[in-house]
Amino acid sequence: MSERFRQLSPSEFFYRNKEIAGFSNPARAVYQAVRELMENAFDATEMHGILPHITVQLKEDSEGRVFLAVEDNGIGISSLEVPNVFGRVFYGSKYVLRQSRGVFGLGVKMAVLYAQMTTGQPVKVRTATRRSKFIYEFEVMISIEKNIPVIKSIKVSKNNSGWHGTRVELVLRGNWSQAKKRVEEYVRRTALIAPYATIIFEAPDLSLKFERTMSKLPPSPVVGKPHPKGVDVEMLKMMIESTKKSTTLLEFLVGNFDGVGAATATKFCEWAGFDPNAKIKNLKNDEIELLASKMQEFSGWRRPKANMLSPLGEELLVEGVKAVLNPEFVTAVSRPPSSYSGYPFIVEVALAYGGAITSAEAPTLLRFANKIPLLYDEGVDVSTKVVRDKIDWRIYKVEFPAPLAIVTHVCSTKVPFKGVGKEAVADVPELESELEAGVRECARRLRLYLSRLEKQLEVKRWETTIRKYIDDVARSTSYVTGIDENLLRSKLYDLVRSKVARGGNR
Ligand code: ADP
Ligand code: MG
Repeated sequence: MSERFRQLSPSEFFYRNKEIAGFSNPARAVYQAVRELMENAFDATEMHGILPHITVQLKEDSEGRVFLAVEDNGIGISSLEVPNVFGRVFYGSKYVLRQSRGVFGLGVKMAVLYAQMTTGQPVKVRTATRRSKFIYEFEVMISIEKNIPVIKSIKVSKNNSGWHGTRVELVLRGNWSQAKKRVEEYVRRTALIAPYATIIFEAPDLSLKFERTMSKLPPSPVVGKPHPKGVDVEMLKMMIESTKKSTTLLEFLVGNFDGVGAATATKFCEWAGFDPNAKIKNLKNDEIELLASKMQEFSGWRRPKANMLSPLGEELLVEGVKAVLNPEFVTAVSRPPSSYSGYPFIVEVALAYGGAITSAEAPTLLRFANKIPLLYDEGVDVSTKVVRDKIDWRIYKVEFPAPLAIVTHVCSTKVPFKGVGKEAVADVPELESELEAGVRECARRLRLYLSRLEKQLEVKRWETTIRKYIDDVARSTSYVTGIDENLLRSKLYDLVRSKVARGGNR
């Protein structure tokens, strides 16, 4: 018999392979659904200059059905977009060069698919955009074979209170009691990396409330242009396609790429042997191929701009770590922008020591990428390699077991994730060396702090020893010299006090 062929729709692909998007078992599915909805809520708020206020409610019935509702005060979703946003795999607004938590246009659809597969229930959405006169309520399902949304119901009501934001409700089969620990960890870490957010989380046996401790948001990321180092032939062709006929190569380069001015473009053309005045639409395939490889090779481009990124900054990072980890010592480093393959990135590192941090045989590692806490696949993440394998902590006066926590935050327009579940970052060399530089800088500051502590301890010990002898010395000196014993004693105490104040230097 001959084989029968047909095409698989994107929905059906993920319906069959839900594990690759993190929905591998009932516990993980709850965690992943919470994550996808919370991440969308954050993108809809902080990326647009709104201080996030996010509530998550989770309930469970005796049959193992989990009711999840996430509400945000974000920009809302236009009623025209709601069906596709929730019912079409690979549909979204984040396919641009700008740092965001979401990237694939997949997350919420995975949660909707999973709910649909396990309980047959549609997703319920309530939303209003800013200044919208109406509030829209939708029930949407996905036609899996066709990858199109099916609208089950629509309701429109007056928006009298001026509310804006989105509330998403899902019913899925899941295992809350098994997911609880991870979800709690996820929410705590989200609060750590977003001290400007208020997060209210209510679930059976778990009620968390993080009030914002700061009202300062990280800079909103700007949509940027691609960097010339990151091009390939196909990308150039697509760009040339949408260019006017009269455009010259020089104009094309200046107009379409990040940080390319006329001077740089001229220098490049000279170096690569291209005529800057050639009409871009006239380039043949082999010329485009050469252009792409020369653009990748040229070393004279400026670094990618960092305004597409939204790093936390040292102040917010320290604040977040203090509020959630409650350590005795904390320091943070926000590294200068760098790039790999034409993508800008910034690495941030915080180090926390002592206080409420529990001692362990290795540093506790808290990884983040574009403000997403990464909880799974720690073993294969580049941060683990740097923090656990590359750094000899004894150089920094840390003897394990030690109460040491390291926070790493990679932000980029393209974080090199190892899978669509977004749990581990690959060891791109440029990234790895930035991470190492950040961790070492924090570690040096810790060493300084620990040296100071050591010194103080030494002085304390010296003081205790000396004080033990003061009475004897005062008595015998008074006996020999006839000077008043009390006077001698108080003089000696003064002496010790002033030495302690000077740090014990004799
Ligand atoms: P991604 O987040 O990767 O883009 P999703 O499937 O999670 O993919 O979401 C698709 C799109 O729906 C997003 O790009 C965003 O434009 C929109 N969206 C989803 N949730 C919200 C929300 N809570 N508020 C506003 N817009 C949202
Ligand atoms: Mg998303």
